[in-house]
Amino acid sequence: MRALVTGGAGLIGSHIADLLLREGWSVRILDNLEAQTHRKGKPAWIPESADFIEADIRDRSAVTAALRDIDVVFHEAIYGGYMPELAKFVHVNSFGTAQLLEIIRDENLAVKKVIVASSQAVYSEGAANCQQHGVVFPAVRPAAQLSRGDFAVHCPHCGADTTSVPTPEEAPIRGESVYAITKIDQERLVLTWEQQTGIPTVALRYSCTYGPRQSVFNPYTGVIAIFCTRLLNNQPPVFYEDGFQTRDLCFVEDIARANLLAATTDALDGQAVNVGSGKAATIREVARLISDALNIHIEPSARGEFRPGEIRHLISDIRRIRAVGFAPEVDLEAGIGRYLDWIRAQADVRDYFAAAEPVLRSKGMVRQVQTNV
Ligand SMILES: [Zn+2]
Repeated sequence: MRALVTGGAGLIGSHIADLLLREGWSVRILDNLEAQTHRKGKPAWIPESADFIEADIRDRSAVTAALRDIDVVFHEAIYGGYMPELAKFVHVNSFGTAQLLEIIRDENLAVKKVIVASSQAVYSEGAANCQQHGVVFPAVRPAAQLSRGDFAVHCPHCGADTTSVPTPEEAPIRGESVYAITKIDQERLVLTWEQQTGIPTVALRYSCTYGPRQSVFNPYTGVIAIFCTRLLNNQPPVFYEDGFQTRDLCFVEDIARANLLAATTDALDGQAVNVGSGKAATIREVARLISDALNIHIEPSARGEFRPGEIRHLISDIRRIRAVGFAPEVDLEAGIGRYLDWIRAQADVRDYFAAAEPVLRSKGMVRQVQTNV
């Protein structure tokens, strides 16, 4: 089988490429080596045995050439992170995906399946349980609420505090950030295209993915990478709100295994499918695990700041993909250990977060709780 992995130099794409090569596939990678992520150019982990094309996903002729003689497309190329570049998000993610699909049909290519990287961010706030109303799907918390220092997720019907429960695929799709909007675009484009062309597709909704090769240069993505570089620079990890937000953190090799499964079974075709650990970890717990593993103990900083639009709790219900044989294999402690082994071998682990924070603050993307209200 012959695969095209777009974004194949990145965290998830490169692990998919490695796994496919081990499984005997031939692999072509298309990646533009975005400077934000790949500050030092082409990474050494791109395998010699893979065919590498350095090009932007929006480059029609390069994508056309990359799609020749491909059986399965793993579409991982995205623009991501916590950043205000609205137009670029839409252009890379939405337009890039639409054009890729258009080329396959225009050129009458023999592609047998397209798997697209979606995200649990399509849900915004995770599912929750209200004592009175059972499972509810709250919207993102209003900035005015967070300004008052009220971080709870309230029931949309009665306003009571709720408790977090895993979010199933049937939950409403909201798209309350530009990133989420473009992820919804991508999965709808792909799944609708299957209806039109009969070519099978799967949209995998990844939870927060971490692991070796996660960019240490990008101050906007990945709580584990950011906490590691902060501690290695003797700086405190920074908590927004109170640090009791929970995340579903999934080790990148588990995400890669889910992709291989989606490529080799037809049981997921035509569906959006959650992939994650299925488990909740608080931001505080993540900081503690990293501190313990590094043996660097610096009291985290919680300065009463919040990020408007941030999700409080989002844990993926992974029963759908479990039913076809997926099981996460690397737990959080082991995964953090694997990441630290990698990051210790990197020459440059400067703290890029410190420079990024004032920029986010000046754009209102990090704000202070108003204690006098
Ligand atoms: Zn209620």
